Amino acid sequence: MTVSGRSTHEVFNQSPPYVDVDLFGLDLPLQTAVAANGAASDAVALSAFGKHWGTAMMFDRARLANEHKPVLKAFDAQGFRQDFVEFHPSYQRFMTESIEAGMTAMTWNADGKRAEAPSEVARAVRYYMVAQIENGHMCPVTMTRAAIGALAANPALLSQVMPKIASRQYDPSFAPWTEKSGMTIGMGMTEKQGGTDVRANTTLAEPFGDDYLITGHKWFMSAPMCDAFLVLAQAQGGLTCFLMPRFTPDGALNELRFQRLKNKLGNASNASSEVEFDNAFAWRVGEEGKGVRTIIEMVQLTRLDCAISSAGMMRMALAQAISHTRHRTVFQRQLSDQPLMGTVLADLALESEAALAVTMRLCRSYDRASTDPHEAARARTLTPVVKYWVCKTAPGFVYEAMECLGGNGYVEDGVLARLYREAPVNAIWEGSGNVVCLDLLRALARDGEVAGAVLEALARQTFDLPGCAEAVKFVAQVLAGPSHEAHARAAVERLAQLAAVAALQESAPDVAAIFARARLENRCGRTYGALELDVNATKLLLERALPAT
Ligand SMILES: Cc1cc2nc3c(=O)[nH]c(=O)nc-3n(C[C@H](O)[C@H](O)[C@H](O)COP(=O)(O)OP(=O)(O)OC[C@H]3O[C@@H](n4cnc5c(N)ncnc54)[C@H](O)[C@@H]3O)c2cc1C
Repeated sequence: MTVSGRSTHEVFNQSPPYVDVDLFGLDLPLQTAVAANGAASDAVALSAFGKHWGTAMMFDRARLANEHKPVLKAFDAQGFRQDFVEFHPSYQRFMTESIEAGMTAMTWNADGKRAEAPSEVARAVRYYMVAQIENGHMCPVTMTRAAIGALAANPALLSQVMPKIASRQYDPSFAPWTEKSGMTIGMGMTEKQGGTDVRANTTLAEPFGDDYLITGHKWFMSAPMCDAFLVLAQAQGGLTCFLMPRFTPDGALNELRFQRLKNKLGNASNASSEVEFDNAFAWRVGEEGKGVRTIIEMVQLTRLDCAISSAGMMRMALAQAISHTRHRTVFQRQLSDQPLMGTVLADLALESEAALAVTMRLCRSYDRASTDPHEAARARTLTPVVKYWVCKTAPGFVYEAMECLGGNGYVEDGVLARLYREAPVNAIWEGSGNVVCLDLLRALARDGEVAGAVLEALARQTFDLPGCAEAVKFVAQVLAGPSHEAHARAAVERLAQLAAVAALQESAPDVAAIFARARLENRCGRTYGALELDVNATKLLLERALPAT
């Protein structure tokens, strides 16, 4: 730069952007988790996927999709309602790519039954990489794949929907789904008076021949351009699940009236609407009165995706922090080699690898659930536990990684600021923190023996690692104690960390020992970098996290 022919300054000691990176090849914890959970044979495809999603082009698309927020076009030029939401082309491109990659389809066979193992792990690894780049568009993607779980309660409807999901095509045209090459499905449960307590829903469903007309509202209904929504409403027999299409079977626009889009903290590329239904047409899914039981089949899967997404965001934040500190010099020394920064980075790497390992191990339980009752119990019991811990960990983790970049981390030119705003949402939706803890208590009350067997198996797997036996005792005591509800968070957090140790033992035993000592024996972790870590452990964790270039 010149001013009056003079250079004002030389630009140096700024780290290069962390772009054009292989999200799979540079991630040793991911590769070991993939191998430990049965998807090693997918490595070549995963590497191609990681290289593509790590290109500068994809980072830039994510920026564009989030800077240009969706816009509600409630009316057309003549004043007729159209209830249309317009998205930036970058968002549409992400939808196309994620759906083509199988993010909605690959865990299902054409008949809606579970696809063969390791489809859940193979999908999760891809999702983990996508989440590092752009999360907003994954809201409709995750709801679409999860909706199949609930639609199993209406086999006739499922058989019509499945070919549209199996096509792996994203068709953004605004037309009845029966005329489209692919479809997406959203979900409407939350009303003004309550999101957790959906039994308080006031939206009403009245019979209309074999089908229903629904009148009422939803206070949050994301991805309003989905082709249909699983909606809860009060029928004569009680709270019931319905599938509400955007167009009625005769091709008319269905009576969904979007009032406005939420002005959100993050999750900006995704639209979240407030909507009213005025005799909107819907098909029943499952029996009247069984709405919660029906839709919970969907919610288990969306909760799993929340954990994958948060683990992915943590990974991107970590990689940005390590890359930056390896290129930045302070006091004549590389920032990453400053002992205190090394401890912070290693601690972040430890948490990130644990979050990844426990999430991928949980996905393996889903893969095996149909043939192994213990794995089915593990999936049921640990999904809320892992969702709680990983999603709650992500915001603080991203904040700490942001600080590693100093002022540059706080500025919108980089990705940390966006990740920071995105991170809290996974803990709030699909069952907020307290709610998922209470879900574990409910599972214990319903089927204590099954959940007890899961804890026993974790105890057997971890008994010789520091702090694990005490953790097992603590969890069992709290959960059986008189004030178990008040202390559920303590038990759930410890249980998640125990499950993380067990998962790490299968993928990275060295890291399992470090994690057990730091989190279960010494209980360090509220502030990263405040743990005792020797030089060798620091080196091991950082070399695993991101190879030096
Ligand atoms: C960006 C975004 C998009 C969303 N999209 C959708 C969507 O597409 N479809 C949809 O249906 N919903 C959607 N939601 C809504 C979301 O699922 C709800 O906000 C969430 O379930 C919590 O419900 P609530 O907001 O009514 O809070 P409340 O139910 O009032 O809960 C408030 C707090 O109280 C806690 N709590 C509740 N019960 C108890 C208890 N017994 N003991 C202790 N603590 C308790 C909760 O954990 C929570 O922290 C979205 C939310 C956001 C932020």
